[in-house]
Amino acid sequence: MQNYPIFIDLNNQPCLIVGGGEVALRKIRLMRTANAKITVIAPNLCTDLKSEFGTDIEHIERKFSPDDIKNYRLITAATNDSKVNKQVSQLAQAANIPVNVVDQPELCSFITPSIIDRSPALIAISTGGGAPVLARILRAKLEAFIPASYGHLAKAMQKYRDQIKATFSEEKDRRRFWEKITQGSIAEQFFSGQVEDAEQSLQAAILLAQENKLADVNEVGEVWLIGAGPGDPDLLTFKALRLMQQADVVLFDRLVSKEVLNLSRRDADRIYVGKRRSDHAVPQEEINQLLVDLAKRGKRVVRLKGGDPFIFGRGGEEIELLAKSGIPFQIVPGITAASGCATYAGIPLTHRDHAQSCLFVTGHLKNDTIDLDWQRMATPNQTVVVYMGLVGLPIICKQLIAHGVSPTMPIALIQQGTMSNQRVVIGTITSLPEQVKNKEIKAPTLIIIGSVVSLEENLSWYEATS
Ligand code: SAH
Repeated sequence: MQNYPIFIDLNNQPCLIVGGGEVALRKIRLMRTANAKITVIAPNLCTDLKSEFGTDIEHIERKFSPDDIKNYRLITAATNDSKVNKQVSQLAQAANIPVNVVDQPELCSFITPSIIDRSPALIAISTGGGAPVLARILRAKLEAFIPASYGHLAKAMQKYRDQIKATFSEEKDRRRFWEKITQGSIAEQFFSGQVEDAEQSLQAAILLAQENKLADVNEVGEVWLIGAGPGDPDLLTFKALRLMQQADVVLFDRLVSKEVLNLSRRDADRIYVGKRRSDHAVPQEEINQLLVDLAKRGKRVVRLKGGDPFIFGRGGEEIELLAKSGIPFQIVPGITAASGCATYAGIPLTHRDHAQSCLFVTGHLKNDTIDLDWQRMATPNQTVVVYMGLVGLPIICKQLIAHGVSPTMPIALIQQGTMSNQRVVIGTITSLPEQVKNKEIKAPTLIIIGSVVSLEENLSWYEATS
């Protein structure tokens, strides 16, 4: 190990920064977060430093001189004069004061890591000053996996630490208790920001532990209704991924891509409840009941839905029964097909010169007709997105023309949007039904109607077929 990692308490400790530019400002920001008492020696402070910390730091308005090295806890050199930086480093090291010279590892007696701050939890990453880009990449990877509100959980653990110590005399029992809390529904409650409820659950768990019933903690299951997005696994949210990796059971339907499903916890049970047009693999009522039953058996259940659960996703129905049955649940939004497909096809849903509003409708046929407000669909300067519209496409186009839309209005059909095999067919509301007839179209497909479709030519990075 090239460096020995430590965390240092700077609360109210005198620290010196030599230099008053942007680089100094970045250092000051971080050190002020740790409540350091900062002295800056520099003939001038840059504007941002002055406005952000002008009254918060002591500013000595002149160049550095050797007598400035006094009893500081830390010293940082951040000037653009390499001679001064070197002098600061040598004098500080001679006085045994830890010194950092920005971007010059050879002059440093300590270096500052890349950090992930979930105070009081703090993760520091270092590549010994040799590969800061790598440290940043590592940081980005970890950031994605550690919920933004991790600090709430860490704070609570700090708060109840003594109480837990008093409850369990054995170290291994304390560890077991915290392991259970940090990986269960109480932790999830903290992460979703329900801090008060989470603390109540934690207190209840401590009571159970005191009565020696720790086994009962976290026995209640939970359901997470998760939007899996339109197909590309990179479009999942951090929250979706985190919960998917904790699932005991995953219920998914046909729209959820294999790539997304494979990101679930490896040993989770997978249950297919998929639906095809007019072929409901598992009736909706049974799915609702299954979610309740699994949760009652203490399972952490992920219900994965294509796109967003609340957009033509029947998410509302599924949680109704959960709420009625007193099962804890969370809902995670996803990128809906309209948004994913439009973006990947290079079609902006709104555009100053084309469309000031956007309408999402379902084109699902009932008794061979579609029950839609055609007049509203034909409103000018609007984009219409039709979900489940392939079979009804000829009716939709015919009705739009009958209600006054120009027969040359552009329209796009996007097949398997956002996936590697995405295909876009562009035409007019007169031509598209014919164009589509000669092609083997694979579900799912989304239809976008409006003059924004004409922008596809310039904005698309996928090849469209006509
Ligand atoms: N809740 C989903 C929609 C479910 S309805 C969402 O928010 O996206 C199912 C319809 O969504 C499909 O018939 C199709 O019209 C559309 N759809 C979903 N994913 C799609 C994709 N990757 N490409 C094209 N259309 C898609």
